[in-house]
Amino acid sequence: MPVLSKAARESGRTENVFQYADESAFLEHFITKPIYEWFSGWDQKVIEEMKLQEEPFYAYDAFAYRRSDHMYIPSSDCFEFLDTQDSDIMDGTDEHILYEKMIVLDQDNYCKVRKYIIENPIITIDKRREMSLELADNPAAKEAFQFAYEEITDDFYPCPCCGWTMIHGKYGYNCHSTHCIDITPEFSESDKISCSNSTLFRLKKGIMRYFAAPGKLELEIATYCDKKKIQYALWPQMDRYDVEIRFSDGELWEIDAKAYHNPIALRTKIQNDNGFPAGDYAKGFFVIPDEYVQNQRNYTAIINRILTGQNNVKCVTLRSLKMEINRKEESLYEKK
Ligand SMILES: [Zn+2]
Repeated sequence: MPVLSKAARESGRTENVFQYADESAFLEHFITKPIYEWFSGWDQKVIEEMKLQEEPFYAYDAFAYRRSDHMYIPSSDCFEFLDTQDSDIMDGTDEHILYEKMIVLDQDNYCKVRKYIIENPIITIDKRREMSLELADNPAAKEAFQFAYEEITDDFYPCPCCGWTMIHGKYGYNCHSTHCIDITPEFSESDKISCSNSTLFRLKKGIMRYFAAPGKLELEIATYCDKKKIQYALWPQMDRYDVEIRFSDGELWEIDAKAYHNPIALRTKIQNDNGFPAGDYAKGFFVIPDEYVQNQRNYTAIINRILTGQNNVKCVTLRSLKMEINRKEESLYEKK
């Protein structure tokens, strides 16, 4: 963030560097505070002149929580910010390796494995055997499936938010995202699952985060199309889009499901990707879960403001997408 050091110089705040010279003082003063608070005490005029409020980093919440005296864990805002700083899936990580294994599969097996992963964050050894057998004819698909999972070695609670594992670690309970902890009430001892009685597998953490969590939204859209008897395809054209809807008059809509809680993170991501993938579609949608707008009513407006070059593309909630689908269906019905 070179703009920060420039702003610091101009506001005469360079003494900060010495004040927070050691790492723990820095963490205490910055990392646990929302980004806009980093600038409290700065000359307001400088903040306005630098247009800091318009910088993509300005709207992020704290990057870490304090879990105990000297222990901090990264927040979901931190992960979303990192996402915007690099390509979606980083080299050498489990999610990247899985992506490489998946992308060579034919469309049918690709969908089969990906759908299974999204729907089954935790599986028993019997279910693992069953699916391996089902994929026996396609060793590459079987390998991708098996790679996605790891054996669970700690007692856990099934996460009520995402279906993955809440495990007690050094810093308290944690799931794949701190978001799960934020919205989960207390656990009752009876929900706890012990690993000593049975062999269970779960998705590897990065795979849960990058494949399964956003995938729920994709499957919800697919289920809705099923219900309405509308033709659709999941991850068409080797994953160029997430869902493709084809109406009975041949009109094509492409959908990119997005699971960023922070609209600024999504906005940066879209800008880094140069907008919605080009193609021969009538409409394109970035779709977000309904609950994301509960506390941020202007979420879709923040995104739509930057989609000016693509008139047939917009960001909507799942609920609005369903309404758009219904309107389109009604217009088709009237024409008949
Ligand atoms: Zn969870």
